[in-house]
Formats: sequence, structure tokens, C-alpha cells
Amino acid sequence: MKIKTAEFIISNTDIKKCPKPDKPEYAFIGRSNVGKSSLINMLTGRKQLAKISGKPGKTRLINHFLINEEWYLVDLPGYGYAKVSKKERNIWKGFIKDYILTRENLMNLFVLIDSRHNPQKNDLEFMQRLGENQVAFVIIFTKADKLTKKQLKENILHYKTKLLKIWEEMPVFFISSAVDKSGREEILDFIGETNTLF
Ligand code: GDP
Repeated sequence: MKIKTAEFIISNTDIKKCPKPDKPEYAFIGRSNVGKSSLINMLTGRKQLAKISGKPGKTRLINHFLINEEWYLVDLPGYGYAKVSKKERNIWKGFIKDYILTRENLMNLFVLIDSRHNPQKNDLEFMQRLGENQVAFVIIFTKADKLTKKQLKENILHYKTKLLKIWEEMPVFFISSAVDKSGREEILDFIGETNTLF
């Protein structure tokens, strides 16, 4: 898929104020610092569409972007940042949970995982919750450029082993790097194909 246009539409914490659900929508979520903003900017080819901050306590909002006037890209708040309150750390609460469970045009949730790290409890629990609630999701292993091919393969294998304790099958996954743009075509093609199901 070619990205022709990408525009910011609205930020809010109220699912009722999200744009009319008349277009397919894809949301991105992950632990703070996982590389979510960098990935969104890489996918859309817009350097500053999502704010790369790395700062804790970044405003926690649901950010809607309209892509090619055809589908919505949604930047959800990062979770698990140690320096925010426990309440804020729990992703499975409040407006984010409401959004994930009730947004009717949500075609897929991209769950970002830093490919360098060992499987983290809150990521695994989060995915389990998605499964229990039949929310369609795909994993994106980020920052692949930071690892050698061998390390990357080993880490993903390790992740698979963990996930297969919970899941019968390995969820679909992509590997990405905002530095060398790997994964870009595959992710955009996946979105393009999924759009046809809307
Ligand atoms: P967010 O908090 O999940 O939105 O993460 P950011 O996109 O702000 O990235 C956090 C940090 O990781 C920043 O310093 C980025 O430059 C860096 N980063 C993000 N993606 C990549 C990547 O694919 N490769 C490398 N090497 N660094 C990355």
C-alpha cells in the first residue's frame, strides 16, 4: 500500500468522541518506549505524525489519524512505565479497555514487543486478555536492527515457546525496524488486505 495522505484527526479519552466508525481502524499499543511512535512515523512516512518522546507520563490519549482518506490509524497510550502510578500502569482498565472492547470498526490491534527483551508478564497477560475477549491482534517485534539475525531468531523462538504455553497456535507476527524500515511493506499490505474485509 502506498501512503498518499496521513492527517491527525482527534485526541481524546472518551470513546464516544472518537470519529464515526465508518472506516476500518487499526490501533497500536505497547509498553512505553517500545518504539510505537517511531513505527507509526515509519509506516506513514511522516517524521512527526506520532510524537517520539521517550518521556514518562506522556499524555495518555487515544489519537486518531486518517490515512489515505480510507482507514484510521490509532495511537494508544503506552503502558507499563514504571514511573507512572499503578492505576495508570494497568492497561486493562478505563478508557483503553473500553476502546479495545467496544470500538466496532477496530479490525486489528497491533501489539508491539521490543525484540530485545525477554517475554514480559504484563505483555503476555495483556495478550491473554485479548484472546479471552476475542480481540483480533497481531504482534510486531520492534527494533530488530538492534540485534544480529541470530539473536533475533533466538529471541523470537523464545517468545514463541512462551506464547505456545497459552496459545494453541502462534499469533501472527511481523518484525520491524524504524531505522531500516523493515516490516513496513508487510504491515501495510496486511492492513490493505484487511481493509477489504470491512
Ligand atoms: P514509544 O514510547 O513506544 O512511542 O517509543 P519511541 O518511538 O518514542 O522510541 C523510543 C526510543 O527507541 C527512541 O529513542 C527511538 O529513537 C528508539 N527506537 C524506536 N524504534 C527504533 C528502531 O526500530 N530501532 C532503533 N535502533 N531504535 C528505535
